[in-house]
Amino acid sequence: MTTPAAATDLAQTDDVEWAVRLLAATPTHEGRDPRMLRQWALTADAFGSRLAPVACTARVVERDGGLEEGLLARYTSRPPTVELFNDAIALAERVVDARRWRDWYPPGSVRAAALAHEAVHAHLHHGPARAALKRALGHTALRLGRLRVPGHVAGAEEVAAHAYARTVCGLGRSPLLLTAALAAEARAGAVTRPGSTPPRNRDARREN
Ligand SMILES: [Zn+2]
Repeated sequence: MTTPAAATDLAQTDDVEWAVRLLAATPTHEGRDPRMLRQWALTADAFGSRLAPVACTARVVERDGGLEEGLLARYTSRPPTVELFNDAIALAERVVDARRWRDWYPPGSVRAAALAHEAVHAHLHHGPARAALKRALGHTALRLGRLRVPGHVAGAEEVAAHAYARTVCGLGRSPLLLTAALAAEARAGAVTRPGSTPPRNRDARREN
């Protein structure tokens, strides 16, 4: 596992900054003004943390294979299904212990957070909340005279889903910090097999 110094460094970066980094690493945001990204990160985080509790009505399937796919969980819409990857969730729980982050992520909270996160994707996919998030972000993609067409901010839904999971699961820190630690573990090659990708607390696609 990584050194205590490296563990300290990750935790010293605050949750909003991790959200900014997620947005910055998302295609379409190359060269975007960092102040704009920070504003979007704050807005998406606030949106997610204020969402009313969302029941997960999708079918839940538990299986392994998350380490190979680099995923903790995934939502797919046809039919509405949440896949939870037990192997990647177990690794995340070990990382929490190794980094002494139990106060932030109680036992079992990785699974609960992954489920909550994917429930938000399902909620945004099927309801009016996606438009509400767009309005909150206020990004204008297209201006036709006085008509403003709200633009899509890639990654914002992801930030909102993490913020929701942090809030409803009562976590001390965002799951974004944990995903950063998992990525560090994968890069170090200390836990996962060489060549495997870091588990993310996000979905490969279609409901990013
Ligand atoms: Zn996601």
